[in-house]
Amino acid sequence: MTTPLKSFIEVAPNSDFPIQNLPYGVFSETPEGQRRVGVAIGEWVLDLAAIEAAGLLQLSGGRTYFNQSTLNDFIASGRENWTALRTQLQQLLAADTATLRDNAELREKAFFKQAAVTLHLPVQIPGYTDFYSSKEHATNVGCMFRDPKNALLPNWSELPVGYNGRASSVVVSGTNVVRPSGQIKLPTEDRPIFSPCRKLDFELETGFIVGKPNQLGQPISIENAWDHIFGMVLFNDWSARDIQQWEYVPLGPFNSKTFASSISPWIVTLDALEPFRTRCPEQEPRPLHYLREENVDNSFDINLSVEVKPENQTQADVICKTNFKYMYWSMAQQLTHHTIAGCNVQVGDLMGSGTISGPTPDSYGSLLELTWNATKPLQLSNGEQRSFLQDGDTLIMRGYCEKDGLRIGFGEVSGKVLPAVQFNFDQN
Ligand code: MN
Repeated sequence: MTTPLKSFIEVAPNSDFPIQNLPYGVFSETPEGQRRVGVAIGEWVLDLAAIEAAGLLQLSGGRTYFNQSTLNDFIASGRENWTALRTQLQQLLAADTATLRDNAELREKAFFKQAAVTLHLPVQIPGYTDFYSSKEHATNVGCMFRDPKNALLPNWSELPVGYNGRASSVVVSGTNVVRPSGQIKLPTEDRPIFSPCRKLDFELETGFIVGKPNQLGQPISIENAWDHIFGMVLFNDWSARDIQQWEYVPLGPFNSKTFASSISPWIVTLDALEPFRTRCPEQEPRPLHYLREENVDNSFDINLSVEVKPENQTQADVICKTNFKYMYWSMAQQLTHHTIAGCNVQVGDLMGSGTISGPTPDSYGSLLELTWNATKPLQLSNGEQRSFLQDGDTLIMRGYCEKDGLRIGFGEVSGKVLPAVQFNFDQN
C-alpha cells in the first residue's frame, strides 16, 4: 500500500478538506472586498489568484482564470484544465514540495483562515433545475397526499421527474432566509387567505454543477453525461408546504420554492469523489434505452445529516441522517433526460437531486416526512417541539465521504429563518 499524499499544511483527521479533496470556492477578505477563486485545505483557503500571479500554475488557454468573482471561466476552460489544476495543486501543497512551503512571503499573501474570510456563491448560475429522484421521498409524499397503495405515479419509475426552478434566488450558505408569504388554502375556507407560510420546511439535497454545455437541439448521451459534470455541493431547497399545496396544480411548484435555495460554498469535484463511487439501487422496470447506464458505478457514498438550532441555543439537534447512495436516478441520467428533447444546458447550471430520503424514519430528508405532515412533532433537546421551522431557527446540512482513513467532505450549508415581511394592504 502506498503512503497517502500529505500536505505541509496541517490538516486535522476529521477535517473535510485534506489534500485529496481541494474543493473550489470564491472568497474575499472583507464582505465587500475583491472576490477571487480559492481552494480549501484544512482550515485554510489558498488564494489561487495569488498563486497564479506568482507564475506557479500552468494551465492551457493562455490566460488567467482566478482573479475574478466566479469559477465559470475556469470551469468552461475544460476538463483538461480541471485535471491539470488538481494535479498541480496537489504537487504544490505536498509536504515534500519546497516551492510554496519555503516561500514565507508568498505563503503570507496566499493563505487565509476560512473562518476569517467571506465566502460567496462560487459560480454564476444561469439556470437551476430541481429533480425528484429519491424513491423513498416520492413514496412518502405520495402516501401522505394521495394513495398509499399507488404512492408512485406511473411516470416516476420511467424518467427522472423534474421542473425548472429559479436561479436568481440561489444563495450561498450563511444567507438569512425570510419566511415567505402567499396564498394558503385552509380546508375550512372556500377561498385562500394571504398569510406568512405556516409550514416552512427544508429539503436535504445535493446539487451538481454543469461543467460543459451542449448545443441547442443536441442531447447529451448517457455515455457522455459524466464528462459534463464539474462537481457537487450541498443544497437546501427551502419549501413552503402550505403555499405549495395550493399553487402546484397543474404546473408544479412556483412561489413555494422561489424565495430561496441555499448551496454550500465549496464545490467538491467528481475527481475528489471518485474513490467513493457506488451503484444506484436496482432500476425496475429497466429504463428506456437512452437512460440505460448498466455496469457503471453511477452513484456516490456520501453521508448526509441535518441539524436544527433554535434561536439563542448553542446546541444544534441532529434531526436526520441519510446517504446520497439511496438516490434512484443518477446524476448522469438526470442530465441526459434534461437534454433529451434538445434543451441546452450551460456552464454553471445547478441541478438539484431532489429531497434525499433513506429507508428509515430518521433518514427522511424533510420535516414534512420526519413529522409526517405535523402529526408526529420532533422533540428537541431544549424541550421544544418542531413540526415545521420557526423564526430564528438555523438549519444546517453537512455531508462527507469516509473510507480507509480518507475523508472527503462538503463542509456545510446553513441558513437562519427570519420573520416574514410585514404587509400593509389597503383595506379596499
Ligand atoms: Mn426539491
